Amino acid sequence: MEVNNTRAWESNIRRVKPYVPGEQPKDKSVIKLNTNENPFPPAPGVQMVLNNMDVDKLRLYPDPSIGLLVDELSKFYQVNKDQVFVGVGSDDVLALAFLTFFNSDKPILFPDITYSFYPVWCELYRIAYETQPLDKTFMIVKGDYYKDNGGIVIANPNAPTSIYEEISTIEDIVSHNPNSIVIIDEAYIDFAKGSALSLTRKYENLLIVQTFSKSRSMAGMRIGYAIGSKKLIRALNDVKYSFNSYTLNQTAILAGAEEVKDKDYFYERIQNIIDIRKYSEKEFQKLGFSFPKSGANFLFVTHESVPAKELYKALKENNIYVRYFDLPRINNYLRITIGTRQQMNTLFDYLKTILIADKAE
Ligand SMILES: *Cc1c(COP(=O)(O)O)cnc(C)c1O
Repeated sequence: MEVNNTRAWESNIRRVKPYVPGEQPKDKSVIKLNTNENPFPPAPGVQMVLNNMDVDKLRLYPDPSIGLLVDELSKFYQVNKDQVFVGVGSDDVLALAFLTFFNSDKPILFPDITYSFYPVWCELYRIAYETQPLDKTFMIVKGDYYKDNGGIVIANPNAPTSIYEEISTIEDIVSHNPNSIVIIDEAYIDFAKGSALSLTRKYENLLIVQTFSKSRSMAGMRIGYAIGSKKLIRALNDVKYSFNSYTLNQTAILAGAEEVKDKDYFYERIQNIIDIRKYSEKEFQKLGFSFPKSGANFLFVTHESVPAKELYKALKENNIYVRYFDLPRINNYLRITIGTRQQMNTLFDYLKTILIADKAE
């Protein structure tokens, strides 16, 4: 006989199927091209801050308004301070934005292939959602976003496809949705042509979310931010102060501010990645891979004959980690982060041996 062991309290537990982050192997010799981290270090000023850190400062709570970093970001992006919100990585900012802005009975809309955290936050907060299929080339069909909705979130460039949608497409969607809040997740925008940030001057319902994790080489520090109208930023702050006032730690605030100050290094590092991306595109093509045009620090590649899953496993056995998603429509693709030139060459060398061995079989 089946015994029901579930206690009453157990049915009160909020159950969610969590997001699964990319693996973080302990072995340092692994070539890690699976979570889109930056292979280059943060600005030299960040190292200075950490070297000179006075631990006595840690007795005190950090500035809850994160003023120093808000200041630097507002200068960098030429917006007012009351248009900037900072959080513990953009995942934190996005989660808070979902909680703050997506409170309609109507479903929120986002593409069927995109950042897999979006449906997780919807489940967690019980937000209804409806995915809109990307076309065959993984591009947004903008007309899909003209229907009634409770909000919209779009990653641009998109993950894991790497595709950048033109600002005109973003503006078209925002302008068709004056009654919804539209969030553009620009985690990879610094590797692409241009941000939709300037549109926040025209549209009060548009929120841009960016991160220090990719283009600013500080995934380990956990800093993300949102830029938008005064109204949206005030609403985000009200929810933040109702949840946890001291989000960013003292060290992260100081280090983040130094990173933003060093503009030259920022642009130089981005150009470096873009150059290696260009080089990698040629090498992948020579090996029989194809991929959509990337606006990010990764390529979304598929091979003409060898299944992606096989390549993923073979690379892993050779200590090279890339990301594979066993999901409909994209299960024959690998998402490969742009590493240093040396890391990429090691990858290409292994791929050559794997592909030749495969041909010989
Ligand atoms: C990496 C990533 C994020 C989250 O980055 P954080 O490290 O939390 O700042 C958000 N959205 C997309 C699409 C990403 O790829």
